[in-house]
Amino acid sequence: MQAAVLTAPRALRLQGVRDPVPGSGEVLVRVGAAGICGTDYRIWSGERPVAYPLIPGHEFIGDVAAVGSGVTRVQPGDRVAVEPNWGCGSCDLCGEGRGNLCLARVAVGIDRDGGFAELAVLPERACWPAPPGVPDDVLLFTEPLAVVVRAVDRAAPRPGETAAVVGAGTLGLLAVQVLRGRGCRVLVVARSDRRLGLARALGADAAVATADGGDAVAAARGLAGRDGVDLAVETAGTAEAVELALGRVGFVRPGGRVILAGLPHAASRIEFFWVVRRELEIRGSMIYQDEFKDAVALLAAGAMRVAPLLTHRFALAEIDRALAVHREPGSIKVAVFPGGERP
Ligand SMILES: [Zn+2]
Ligand SMILES: [Zn+2]
Repeated sequence: MQAAVLTAPRALRLQGVRDPVPGSGEVLVRVGAAGICGTDYRIWSGERPVAYPLIPGHEFIGDVAAVGSGVTRVQPGDRVAVEPNWGCGSCDLCGEGRGNLCLARVAVGIDRDGGFAELAVLPERACWPAPPGVPDDVLLFTEPLAVVVRAVDRAAPRPGETAAVVGAGTLGLLAVQVLRGRGCRVLVVARSDRRLGLARALGADAAVATADGGDAVAAARGLAGRDGVDLAVETAGTAEAVELALGRVGFVRPGGRVILAGLPHAASRIEFFWVVRRELEIRGSMIYQDEFKDAVALLAAGAMRVAPLLTHRFALAEIDRALAVHREPGSIKVAVFPGGERP
């Protein structure tokens, strides 16, 4: 098969490799589409160390091509969304139902070969069957949507509440829709005004860009009609976004909740006096635990508008270009289609 193999930082090449063979309890998936996210870029650049050689790619979907002995969950021909993280199953955290926090967690495309290839082998548990007829372009969003469903659930939104989504990338623009589905009124805060129109089209009641002098606190107060929104979901993973969500007085109301779901790699400066004074509840949200089936169901039901989020498509052979476009401000979700595009 053809696969994009990373042999050193920034050395990613398409090459022919031996087809993987599913062992007992494993499934061979013919990859239909694989999305690119910031983690893939960090792996490619070497910021995130991995063992080489590695086939990266963790957001992918496809068709079951073959199954090993003992597999009952899927059969050849099934369409599946791949859950690319799983816990060890034997530690205290896994026993407590927190496999997403397992210190021995295995991540596809990071710890083992992933989806920037024509074929991938996965344990049966990683394969979530999807109804036939859900387009690749839609099913592709299962993994980021599972992240968002968990983040929103951790905020426990109630109908009629106001919510701020910080960041207007893939996660933020999915979060708008999930929060609207829960009956919230939603403000989107982005750095630039490039995606504010899209955020509104996807259901945001208000949208503001901070780089153009937009006042996120005034927008939050305006939407809420009080001293800040009931909850905020931070999806950008930048220090600036964390500082807004947690540190700006009047953005989230006293007694409100802040969910941190973007992975901030840079340190933030927060005056915790105001966190205590306003008794903010802060919760991290790490990938997903039980949310994959919910994400598949939302997409299969047509409950999410994802077409505007898939801005760029490439053949697998164009993976270098795809990674470069992922970094361009005009892109939202960039994906490669190792099997060629479906009609
Ligand atoms: Zn990702
Ligand atoms: Zn574990």
